[in-house]
Amino acid sequence: MNSKVSERPEKRNHRLRAGQDNLVRVASTRLPTMFGVFDLIGFERANVDTGKTESALLLMLGDPTNQAPLLRIHSQCLTGEVLGSLRCDCRGQLELAMSAIADEGSGLVIYEYQEGRGIGLMAKLRAYALQDQGLDTIEANEALGFDADCRDFSLAVAILHEIGIDRVRLMSNNPKKHEALTKGGIEIVEQIACEAPPSPYALPYLQTKKKKMGHWLTVA
Ligand SMILES: [Zn+2]
Repeated sequence: MNSKVSERPEKRNHRLRAGQDNLVRVASTRLPTMFGVFDLIGFERANVDTGKTESALLLMLGDPTNQAPLLRIHSQCLTGEVLGSLRCDCRGQLELAMSAIADEGSGLVIYEYQEGRGIGLMAKLRAYALQDQGLDTIEANEALGFDADCRDFSLAVAILHEIGIDRVRLMSNNPKKHEALTKGGIEIVEQIACEAPPSPYALPYLQTKKKKMGHWLTVA
């Protein structure tokens, strides 16, 4: 197989699709999953403030462009999604969202590389170590010099504009996501809870999110 032939369309695509916010549509492909066959599109952009490249995946089922589609903006969680950690509910939330989209036959997941609410995997492990000593999830982040939540969701907003979506039904418990989308010109016609059944290990984490970060959660 001549690899140069297969590289050419992506390089051309890369050049043509760089638009608003330096957003680049790197590649589009199909991804069969246990929930259905999604279109998978990789996006990148250069963050002019940090000098770093930001990446996100768009998982799209059906044709969500002619309605207000279901949308989940999900942040990477290696410990939860790959290792099956019960310290958080990330894996359950992602599966809940993909399942709801599959049931409806269309919708979007924007999956961002923002491990540990944006602090990165190694810092997240250090935060876990501090939580083992009794700090909550916010206190641990702050003890390491980070904000409680380092994400701004502007990449997700840019992707939605890029694909022509300006109205969504948002699957989230996070008021910051709601605010970021609204400020970014995306109308939220419905806010849908995205609550997976919590494990006992995740309860303190969820309770802190509810009490200190204002997340819309039913946990007591
Ligand atoms: Zn997680």
